[in-house]
Amino acid sequence: MSQQHTFQAETQQLLNILIHSLYTEKEIFLRELISNASDALNRLQFEMLTNDAVQDAQAELEIRISFDEAAKTLTISDSGIGMNREEIVAGLGTIAKSGAKAFLEAMRDKPQDASDIIGQFGVGFYSAFMVAERVDVLSRSHRPGDEAVKWSAAGGETYTLESADKPSRGTEVTLHLKDDAEEFTRAFRLKDVIRRHSDYVSFPIYVGDDDEPANKQQALWRRPPAEVEDEEYDSFYKMLTMDFGGASHHLHVRADVPMQFYALLYVPGAAQQNMFSPRQEPGLKLYARKILIEEFNRDLLPEYLGFLRGVVDSEDLPLSVSRESIQATRVMASLKKTLTRRVVSELKRMAKKDRDKYLNIFEQFGAFLKQGLVMAGEERSDLEPLMFFQTTRAEDPKVFCSLDEVVERMAENQEDLYYVVADDYASGARSPHLDAFRQRGIEVLYFTQPVDAMLPLGLVDYKGRKLVSVDSAALDLAAIGAPKAEVEGEKAALAGDTFAALRERVKGTLGERVSDVRASTTLVDSPARLVSEDASANRYMFRINRLLDQEYELPVKALELNPRHPLMHNVSALLAADGDAALIDAVIEQVFETALLQDGMHPDPSSMAGRLTLLMQAATGSASAELNFADAKTVIAEPAAETVSMPGQITLDPIDGDAPPSSPLQV
Ligand code: ADP
Repeated sequence: MSQQHTFQAETQQLLNILIHSLYTEKEIFLRELISNASDALNRLQFEMLTNDAVQDAQAELEIRISFDEAAKTLTISDSGIGMNREEIVAGLGTIAKSGAKAFLEAMRDKPQDASDIIGQFGVGFYSAFMVAERVDVLSRSHRPGDEAVKWSAAGGETYTLESADKPSRGTEVTLHLKDDAEEFTRAFRLKDVIRRHSDYVSFPIYVGDDDEPANKQQALWRRPPAEVEDEEYDSFYKMLTMDFGGASHHLHVRADVPMQFYALLYVPGAAQQNMFSPRQEPGLKLYARKILIEEFNRDLLPEYLGFLRGVVDSEDLPLSVSRESIQATRVMASLKKTLTRRVVSELKRMAKKDRDKYLNIFEQFGAFLKQGLVMAGEERSDLEPLMFFQTTRAEDPKVFCSLDEVVERMAENQEDLYYVVADDYASGARSPHLDAFRQRGIEVLYFTQPVDAMLPLGLVDYKGRKLVSVDSAALDLAAIGAPKAEVEGEKAALAGDTFAALRERVKGTLGERVSDVRASTTLVDSPARLVSEDASANRYMFRINRLLDQEYELPVKALELNPRHPLMHNVSALLAADGDAALIDAVIEQVFETALLQDGMHPDPSSMAGRLTLLMQAATGSASAELNFADAKTVIAEPAAETVSMPGQITLDPIDGDAPPSSPLQV
């Protein structure tokens, strides 16, 4: 008795597209069906580790492809796990997996591109409808009590289900080929497709009556690296990840002692893989003695190497355990240790010997490595050689230097290494903190990637050299590098009591928003800068919290004024003449907020627009008595955003300054 069922709406859409589009690469349907068969065999193998009461326990694990030229049919059968009635309805009546969903979404965005993008997806079982007008699936579950079932669909809105007769375990997919797909009833054509797309499938694939499998089967990772061609590595990567952009590097490891294992690991070409890729999940494929134990294992590498893709095959993992308990075995722990060591030393080798290639990888995945360094604590020395930075030496965002290089060319009497934290390279380069360093020829590292705000938490010193922020209040550069040069046309510093009056006024205006106001000994071109009296790395927590989209509190800093700067001279003169109080306050406010802006700390830069306009009016001749500066003080009077507060004001949530953030920063 056959029963009619209706496809889920999305399945109907998918079928509709697959049936009505033209394809340049329709042969991939075979790859998809073989991959399903191989999955079914893997799952059976896994089941049999703990359960030998399965249907046909002795049957060979294999895939068979048979065809009938006259009837125009093609059948792909496997002796895998099989499906009962419920499973077939769930598996073939609905779309559960990401590949097909992503495909549909892409089609919704750009419908005309079907034939270009089809190859990039695992559209799975339904790709059969690219070449077939009707598909029959006959399946018998591995559970001995379940009866066999036949599923049939012709690409419409419905499919039929009926009880069937199939004595052996597994699944048989029969395609009634369309007229233009007759080529798939020819053995040589089928074998050619198998060799190109399914060569590494680990079960034998027999075509027709052949006794010899059409695929090599040999796991690429078990072959001696010297015998594997680059193209083979490349096509295996693409097959494994569906990332058709290719990998940027591979690492093939075979180890015998103390453990025997094989690993083939890849660094993807880009951090942001093809957005359509159905395989977005991180993790490595884990085999124990050639049996696939887990598709996406995340316990074999530390989180900071989680961007790697690949396969690990161990001879030492116990087979008779569940996936959960495998995690806890000693073998897993030592595999992780060995793999981590191998990957890190390979990256170090590249950083030294193949710098351009390494820097490309660093550009894509440096954020992960930096995070690893911060988390590593005392053991970070292994990762330090992997760190590269832009610096003030080249003043070129394309030039990256290692910490060693920076140490080697330290200025005379320089003991510490210096860095500037900023939101991006351009604002870092304009930072007022750099005035004195440039003057004295002291190189400064740019910490301007979003994740860099975390670095001071971990990278506190390097080979005995402290890393010091350029905004540290305690900084004394007097003895370092070239002596401070005379600047042409530089004004004299404001006299002691004149400056004291200015200082009092600035303090009065800014109140608790600054911890102190003082004269700067380092500023050259800038009128002011904010310095940190808090020497701990906590002062960067606001950046990290901001990056993680959490509530944050801006640190309160001390304001250093440049007593030689013409602006300070002007304000001082206004003050002495007991002139325009409103204008003086507006200038002080703006000096402070400009310094915030330059440190990437201003919570609401556009709020300055009103005041800036009034200042320009004053500069171009308006009498400042007519200008309402009080109204342009908005951001200072009331914090703009609820979760952010200006220095010295109360925040909603205290931050935990000691703990580095736990979630990975994907930037
Ligand atoms: P995917 O393979 O990505 O899950 P498919 O559309 O190819 O998506 O298959 C849907 C489901 O149907 C599979 O997850 C599996 O449960 C089931 N299935 C497909 N082919 C087979 C097969 N040959 N043997 C057993 N189950 C299968």
